[in-house]
Amino acid sequence: MSEITLGIIGGGQLGSMLAIAAKKLNIKTVFFCDDIDAPAQNFCNQFVTGSYDNKEKISEFINQVDLVTYEFENIPFETLNEINKLKPVLPKPSVNRLIQHRLAEKDFVNKLNIRTTRYVSIEKKSDIDALEDFLPGILKTTTLGYDGKGQYPIKSGDELNSLNIDFTKGYILEKLVKLKKEISIIITRFGNNKYEIYEPIENTHEDQILKYSKIPAEINEKIFNQSKDWAIRIAEELKYVGTLCVEFFIDRNNNLYVNEIAPRVHNSGHLTINAFNVSQFENHVRAVCGLEQIPLKKISNAKMINLLGDQITHYRNMQKFKDNEFFFDYLKKDVKEKRKMGHITTLV
Ligand code: ADP
Ligand code: MG
Repeated sequence: MSEITLGIIGGGQLGSMLAIAAKKLNIKTVFFCDDIDAPAQNFCNQFVTGSYDNKEKISEFINQVDLVTYEFENIPFETLNEINKLKPVLPKPSVNRLIQHRLAEKDFVNKLNIRTTRYVSIEKKSDIDALEDFLPGILKTTTLGYDGKGQYPIKSGDELNSLNIDFTKGYILEKLVKLKKEISIIITRFGNNKYEIYEPIENTHEDQILKYSKIPAEINEKIFNQSKDWAIRIAEELKYVGTLCVEFFIDRNNNLYVNEIAPRVHNSGHLTINAFNVSQFENHVRAVCGLEQIPLKKISNAKMINLLGDQITHYRNMQKFKDNEFFFDYLKKDVKEKRKMGHITTLV
């Protein structure tokens, strides 16, 4: 029986699923989250709430745990770095700092000779004047964006004037890719050249928010292999420990691009809970806690639907699901428009 207590920063649905996976492995979980209503408290052993720079609360949290991981990337580097002096933080704080900054992240990927969208750093509004070449494009905040938040699609320079953009923040401007498809690769790295990798997952977004995921992805063999190869190279180069997701674009000419990296378990991997012998969550816990690596086996093809806002209500009222359907309610207190409230995975 394991005696490990895992600290997890953040408290959303990804955290809940990590806690469920940990419990199965006899690992206790303690969460630290700035949201007093965080849903993960329904699934963990202990829950500490406080802002991510509250030193007292952070000590209260780390005193209870053996090591620390996180379920979302937007945590101040200083916080992770300070915690890491007392208890190991995995993935490493430096990896988190690199990936949470869109510019540093894209520079890193390009240095590996891996294709990303074309991008340029924007510090002030006038920087965009000479960049017709990057339009139509998407202006994105360099930090703290998720689910399309902090993003502005821009077709022409004039359009900028009508948008009230706060240029005290840093941005990147990315050329719009004529998308054919989006896929993601989830990989769990345990150590040097030791990893478990899931097959490419095909993702459909609506209003920049993930709506559907499915396996198998309908892609050619070249993209199948290239996406896996790039994800492995990224994980190895970062000396990553834990589960990592690489999001990709495929354009109309079948070129593959890395869109972004998530240094954590990922929404597109919810289907791994039912479709594989070991889920992305269990693999993450196994990797960071130094437990045994189990060869990955697919049990079934699958599709997953994200339930946003009040779409959850219909499913909450359903009495019975089919044998191949798995409904997850994140138990979030408030139903908000476009908020991820739950999901349903169907094995096919
Ligand atoms: P987030 O951090 O919000 O997930 P992403 O950069 O992944 O931000 O963007 C969210 C979604 O917006 C993408 O999955 C894609 O559907 C669309 N998108 C973002 N950037 C581009 C781009 N350069 N070209 C085409 N579509 C894009
Ligand atoms: Mg994304």
